[in-house]
Amino acid sequence: MRDIAFTPRPTWADIDLAALEANFRAIKAFIGDEIKFLAVVKANAYGHGAVECSRTLVSAGVDWLGVALVEEAVELRSAGVNVPILCLGGVWPGQEEIIIDKDLTPAIFRIEDAQRLDARAKEAGAMVNVHLKVDTGMGRVGVRGDAFGAFVDAVSECRNLRIDGLMSHFASADDTEALEFTMGQMNCFDDALAVLIARGIEPTFIDLANSPGAICHPRSRGTMVRIGGILYGLGDDVIPREVPQPGLLPVMSVRSKVALVKDIQRGDSVGYGRRFIAKRPSTIATVPIGYHDGYRRGFSGHVEALVNGFRVPVVGAISMDWITVDVTDLSDAKVGDEVVLLGRDAKNAVSAADLAKTINSISYEITCGISARVPRNYINADNVLD
Ligand SMILES: *Cc1c(COP(=O)(O)O)cnc(C)c1O
Repeated sequence: MRDIAFTPRPTWADIDLAALEANFRAIKAFIGDEIKFLAVVKANAYGHGAVECSRTLVSAGVDWLGVALVEEAVELRSAGVNVPILCLGGVWPGQEEIIIDKDLTPAIFRIEDAQRLDARAKEAGAMVNVHLKVDTGMGRVGVRGDAFGAFVDAVSECRNLRIDGLMSHFASADDTEALEFTMGQMNCFDDALAVLIARGIEPTFIDLANSPGAICHPRSRGTMVRIGGILYGLGDDVIPREVPQPGLLPVMSVRSKVALVKDIQRGDSVGYGRRFIAKRPSTIATVPIGYHDGYRRGFSGHVEALVNGFRVPVVGAISMDWITVDVTDLSDAKVGDEVVLLGRDAKNAVSAADLAKTINSISYEITCGISARVPRNYINADNVLD
């Protein structure tokens, strides 16, 4: 038996690692070199490929990586990524040994997790760094301010854990109208830090800022920032236009090729539910991408694609594996022409924020949603060390 090489469907995502590195450097320069930089690479680096993005960021000098799940951290360690990794989602029962073995740093917000981890660390003769998470207004994970003192006292009983970080998370740092709430979060965070200091604990890592926090609220930068979205060029809907900000480049683009071109008559319909009825004799190009690829069905009727340097409307309902675009106004669309669903050509661009707006979402959900069926093609990777 031999493996037969074959050509895949021509639908792919280009991931521009030079753009990722440029974004990292631009953000770092904007924030200041003295502040530690944690790059958030959870959710497969917001869909961009966690291993490749992490390698690029590590070679560019990132201090920390952040993931949601211990599983994600283990994947990075297996790929040889050796910088400190913060597990934002904490540690679930049964993950103590892998935390110790892979030298991971969990966020801690349940005392039972600390106690189990401490017990396992004692057995292993290990000292484990942990970062405490205080809830300053997000209301999701983290210990509320009024319970924080007792929580610190309980974690302090865990002799094989070292409290080396204090963190919290913003709810609305991107919203200029919510300034008062955001200031309240910063004050609450300062109070939590005071609780630690009053007990003689001075964590190395004091981090509150996500992308909008780090850019819009300098006071929130602490000793480290946790940056996700803007690293991938997804600033449009998390950084208000009017605030000073670093220049960012989009990192992901999604491309495909025309599979079929056909002429239809006035009155003919296209696709499920006959949502498109031709108002004129039309030329329709069929493109092999659909909602299983993360090209969301909700885009139907609201988005454009780029073909041969022109913006063309995506018409009819988006199916699982196909879309149809109206290329009537192009003289020369043909099978094999490149179609840009997300990204830019020489003249035009479709941003993740443009797509997101049509489904009442944010750009992060668009790139995260480009599914595993779409192969990632890493470009400009010369800077990536093996
Ligand atoms: C996802 C996440 C971040 C990064 O947020 P961005 O807006 O993508 O910069 C930072 N901290 C925590 C706890 C997160 O969950």
